Amino acid sequence: MATGGAADTVALNPLVDRKGGKSHVWKYFGFATDDQGNIIDQQKPICKRCHRSFLSKGGNTSNLIKHLKDRHPDLMKEFKQLQAEEDNETPQQTLKQTTVTDAFQRQQKYEKNSPEARRLNRAVAEFICMDQVPVYTVEKCGFQQMLHHFNPKYQLPS
Ligand SMILES: [Zn+2]
Repeated sequence: MATGGAADTVALNPLVDRKGGKSHVWKYFGFATDDQGNIIDQQKPICKRCHRSFLSKGGNTSNLIKHLKDRHPDLMKEFKQLQAEEDNETPQQTLKQTTVTDAFQRQQKYEKNSPEARRLNRAVAEFICMDQVPVYTVEKCGFQQMLHHFNPKYQLPS
């Protein structure tokens, strides 16, 4: 920038963003640079709005968030929205997946009181009575697997 006059000796070099800053709060803070464009102090982010500097050890953002909250409520609001949007992404996807799975499973099995389920329940009951097999036969894996092969939509009542 060649616009500054001779009196403009304390002009700040442009603030640079923190590299790899995960929090959205870094959108509102930058670091002072020297004439070569190198960050002067990594521990001292500067508010882009009011140019106040803060101490941020190891990238701690709580000071910065507090500053937004106290001094720039509009930025705080925006920051919260950005955070909320990010937080929402994952749960929404999970929810959608669960719903699809639920719908799929519901399609897979007959409703407990559906005519098909009742008819098959009766068939199983008749099998037990007519052949006088022990009731636990129907709880065995082999029998359940056989039922599943005959009709995957049917599920034995527990
Ligand atoms: Zn500020």
